[in-house]
Amino acid sequence: MALRTANQYLDSLRDDRVVYYAGERIRDVVEHPHFGLRARANAEQFGRGPEEDPATLALRTVRLPDGEPIHRWHEPPKNRDELLKFIEMEESMPGDAHGAMTAGLSGLRILSRKMDAKHGTAYTPRIDAYADWYARNDMHGAFAMTDAKGDRSKPPSGQADPDLWLRVVERRKDGIVIRGAKTSVTSAALANELLVLPTHGMGPADADWSVACAVPANAPGVVMISNYAGAPWGERFRFDKPVSHSTFHHDATVIFNDVFVPNERVFMDGEFEFTRELLGYFTTLHRTGVLVNEPRGTRRLIGAAQLMARYNGLESVGAIRSTIAEMIETAQLLDALRFTALNRVQIIEGICVPDAVACNLAGLTVTGKRDAYLTFLCELCGGPVLTAPSGLDLVNPETAAMVKKYYVGKEGVSAEERLRLVKYIYDVCASDASGWTRASGVTAAGSPGARRVAVGRGFDLEGCVKAVLGEIS
Ligand SMILES: Cc1cc2nc3c(=O)[nH]c(=O)nc-3n(C[C@H](O)[C@H](O)[C@H](O)COP(=O)(O)OP(=O)(O)OC[C@H]3O[C@@H](n4cnc5c(N)ncnc54)[C@H](O)[C@@H]3O)c2cc1C
Repeated sequence: MALRTANQYLDSLRDDRVVYYAGERIRDVVEHPHFGLRARANAEQFGRGPEEDPATLALRTVRLPDGEPIHRWHEPPKNRDELLKFIEMEESMPGDAHGAMTAGLSGLRILSRKMDAKHGTAYTPRIDAYADWYARNDMHGAFAMTDAKGDRSKPPSGQADPDLWLRVVERRKDGIVIRGAKTSVTSAALANELLVLPTHGMGPADADWSVACAVPANAPGVVMISNYAGAPWGERFRFDKPVSHSTFHHDATVIFNDVFVPNERVFMDGEFEFTRELLGYFTTLHRTGVLVNEPRGTRRLIGAAQLMARYNGLESVGAIRSTIAEMIETAQLLDALRFTALNRVQIIEGICVPDAVACNLAGLTVTGKRDAYLTFLCELCGGPVLTAPSGLDLVNPETAAMVKKYYVGKEGVSAEERLRLVKYIYDVCASDASGWTRASGVTAAGSPGARRVAVGRGFDLEGCVKAVLGEIS
């Protein structure tokens, strides 16, 4: 099959999967008014047949050694050029990103060889065959890693309820049976495959929880309960919510109620000593996300601030100029970190990944600064950020003239221009969607704490201490 079309992807989601959302079961995610929005955004990652722009097709396609074309998501970059193309492709893709799946599959391929060498297991041919099947069939996958966990101070084997971390509850000749829940799984209800991986490094007592496997999203026993991030306002409110009027993010708690997984889909079962290393691989290709999102997000905030200051006639006010100058410093720093990340690349077991320190510093820079910038934008916008009339009042003949009269900016700036920006700032800084983006930026691809650990790794702290001791002794 190799490259699926958008319609083939959408049709594949009509498979009796069990999805609950806002208190009810969704029978057809494609037809659902909210899930359908995201499904169609994901579908744009797939082909459009003869209508597809050749440049897009070239960017999203690579060829297997036998010449079969596959989506670039499925082929981990081996050198810097391929990494740049991978990121360029990632930047151009709407919908849910796929880097974590690629990282997870690549990590398992590397580890399978190590596990087989140590334990005489036969994981290598299984994961190789699965990854090949996954790529050739152009699957859309979700990465199911984060366990429910319960008491965070205790390991899986120390929990009052052993199911709080996903585990193997039965081993059969032809496969295993797993039970547990993975929380926060992005795109789960719109995926074909769920890649189950352990969340933490495990100890000898946690062998039953050291499990990695692939499960079809519609496998018997799989139940998904989606979050509810608020109903999208829809096309009618495009003016009022220019960024998020018709977007829908979905992450699900995926419950595995005694799900049977055949042997050919089991890639780790009990090899606890390899779990920590597996986590390391996850953070490799997944890092690329920060290089895509953060510089783009910061530039948007700068553009909005400068334009609002201009529209309101405040462009030359010293305090405003100096805050915008500070934002520019951050943008330049992010560009420099992006440059470093993509030039000081690391080749980890044949996969080319951006520099860990630069990526994590970029993430930390944004989490440290973004709140202040959003506050600044709200201040600059004034009360209208929350109180301005809707774009619908701008077109209603009964109210249009009044709105047009009183919402102008400096001379030459119409109410429509100014309100368009006010609504943009509302959507980026003060709407429910902006809150989602803020919280997601804190935890989704690594908490600030985890990033700090990664930045400090390998730093010569004792060298610094010695230098000072040398100066004072
Ligand atoms: C939008 C979004 C999308 C996501 N997508 C995915 C996905 O696709 N797949 C997936 O598997 N996961 C996904 N995640 C989950 C994400 O990886 C986790 O939220 C993150 O790893 C933190 O785990 P947790 O949520 O269980 O928080 P917890 O483990 O409960 O941690 C919360 C906080 O508690 C503290 N803490 C926890 N344990 C300890 C400890 N032992 N010692 C000291 N302090 C501790 C830390 O401060 C930590 O930040 C997503 C999350 C978000 C927000």
